[in-house]
Amino acid sequence: MKIRSLLPLVVLFLEACAFLPGGSEVPEHVGAGQVDDARLLAAADENDVWLSYGRTQSEQRFSPLTQIDENNVGELGLHWAFEPGTRRGLEATPLLVDGVFYTTGTWSVVFAIDARTGDLKWRYDPRVPRKTAGIACCDVVNRGVAVYRGRVYVGTLDGRLVSLDAETGEPIFEVVTTDPTRPYTITMAPRVVKGKVILGNGGAEFGVRGYVSAYDWETGELVWRFYTVPGDPSQPFEHAELEAAAKTWTGEWWKVGGGGTVWDSIAYDPELDLLYVGTGNGSPWSRYVRSPGGGDNLYVSSILALRPDTGKLVWYYQNTPGDNWDFTSTQHIMLAELEIDGRERRVLMQAPKNGFFYVLDRETGELISAEAYAKVTWAKGIDKKTGRPIEVEGLDYRNTVVEVYPSPHGAHNWHPMSFNPQTGLVYIPANEIPYFFKLDPEYEYKPGAWNLGYDFTVADSFPREVVSGHLLAWDPVAQKEVWRAQYTSPWNGGTLSTAGNLVFQGTAHGTFVAYRASDGKQLWETPAGTGIVAAPMTYELDGAQYVAVMAGWGGAFALAAGDAAAAAGTTDNTGRLLVYKLGGTARLPVHEAIERELAAIPADLDADQVLRGNHLFHRWCGTCHGSGAVSGGVLPDLRQAAPGIYDTIEDIVLRGVRMPNGMPSFAEWLEPSDVADLRAYLLSRRAALLEERAAAVTP
Ligand code: CA
Repeated sequence: MKIRSLLPLVVLFLEACAFLPGGSEVPEHVGAGQVDDARLLAAADENDVWLSYGRTQSEQRFSPLTQIDENNVGELGLHWAFEPGTRRGLEATPLLVDGVFYTTGTWSVVFAIDARTGDLKWRYDPRVPRKTAGIACCDVVNRGVAVYRGRVYVGTLDGRLVSLDAETGEPIFEVVTTDPTRPYTITMAPRVVKGKVILGNGGAEFGVRGYVSAYDWETGELVWRFYTVPGDPSQPFEHAELEAAAKTWTGEWWKVGGGGTVWDSIAYDPELDLLYVGTGNGSPWSRYVRSPGGGDNLYVSSILALRPDTGKLVWYYQNTPGDNWDFTSTQHIMLAELEIDGRERRVLMQAPKNGFFYVLDRETGELISAEAYAKVTWAKGIDKKTGRPIEVEGLDYRNTVVEVYPSPHGAHNWHPMSFNPQTGLVYIPANEIPYFFKLDPEYEYKPGAWNLGYDFTVADSFPREVVSGHLLAWDPVAQKEVWRAQYTSPWNGGTLSTAGNLVFQGTAHGTFVAYRASDGKQLWETPAGTGIVAAPMTYELDGAQYVAVMAGWGGAFALAAGDAAAAAGTTDNTGRLLVYKLGGTARLPVHEAIERELAAIPADLDADQVLRGNHLFHRWCGTCHGSGAVSGGVLPDLRQAAPGIYDTIEDIVLRGVRMPNGMPSFAEWLEPSDVADLRAYLLSRRAALLEERAAAVTP
């Protein structure tokens, strides 16, 4: 037992030695995917690879490559495109290790692609049960893999951690990381720190308890688990931190789960030996039903600094105490060194959903500064002494509808930002979206349902006129905007910044754009065939620099925002990995939308039944099929189905006949009478669309 556990250390030491004398020499790697700790630590210096999700463990997404720069970026052209066979959201940042791309598509499928030719090397399908879509808040997406010591690691939508052979794609181990009886899902990219695969999960919209785990890279054995919120306080706490945390909760939160899920961001500082993770919103969203007596509800909506060897909490900072708005702090965590007030500071930066840009001392968690980077109406600012938000009075939504900025989609969501040390700017994919909050007076916990405590019927669709998005260049020292590139749609792609004085970003409108990093001048734009939400990456191969991005419109806003998401205008959602180089000449097929003639379906609709259907739709269906049953361009528009579909709706909703397409059966939760109510609601929405179209052509 002892010898076995020592062996990996010996190997690790020998491999690390190969890097020590020369330092900059590119090492010979035997076998595919040979990424070790030494390589991860020195990732900033290897230009022909992209070794982990955020390029380096500091997650800056900055490349020192300069072959493509502000003077020649206009000559960038498509080199090749790989189609993974998907038509839903693509969120992954592809890793590139020694000439091979490792990336993911929808349903957690992993692809290894030859970077020189764009040819598929292998494909691994974890066969995620399609019913999982019914408990996925935010599309059947995946943000990518980790590569380590000849292995590829993926977290699957249905809660597994799978380790694959990087050469062949053959599975080596598979661990179930979540309780299959609860609505957990995984969309994040795992990270590997000191031989441990770090992985969290999501599900707080449906009702789960958040945690982050570390698994042994070789065996898949659980090394530690940190629960982010306390469980039932009548039972022993799993770790000491939870005893203190439980004092900040009231009511019976553990029955729903409490939330605080670690569903995206992770960064690591090897000098301080601290692992940083962001936690999500409370579950249910509304604190009035989650913790009726008030309280901060530790550690929801927080940044946690943990020891990677033990999972022990070193410090925490709660961005949104007692979160009442789905203000997750799972957004990108980025580490940098900044000169602030004449002092070199080791900082952690985050632009979470709540609209404030935070700069923390990453050794202590001390708040250095926080200012609004977006339109914020829920808080006047952050009190520098206490680190707490100064909440605006009069936003109690128990008995009335209140409008709040930012929305649960966030002033910034998971779409990665980037930091360019040369301009000193952070490039944030920012959203301006309002939201109408009202407590559902009849809310009760329903396992498997959308458990938020909100009345969704207050706004039947999300009008496109009220939303927008922009690329925001933010000075983290002065805490102010330097420039912005305005878009009409929110939910634009993640960003990449380079030493060529460039920022790259894909847009919701289906373009891929390069800006001058220092002043935001647009220098290049190309059609990408579909809306882009993922972040680009760059690398050098055989002496040439390339920029790559995954294009595929999707994710929470695209599915749920209805009319507002449809405004992005994505018409063909064929997913692709797009690779560009200077002088590239490949052509991209772009399809145009066809607007079909809609036949009216005569129906005698009862207003009460339509209202019941409206409530049911937004509790069970709207998260994927869009606010007001308006498609955002990912799934078919339910107002525009072929007439026969409405007659077979019971087969679809209760008997799962469309399960292979990802439409689960809701037989466990819904009755035939509910389906009749849903049908009435959909027909009322179809009638409204027909009226709209008729009004549009009438002079
Ligand atoms: Ca959430």
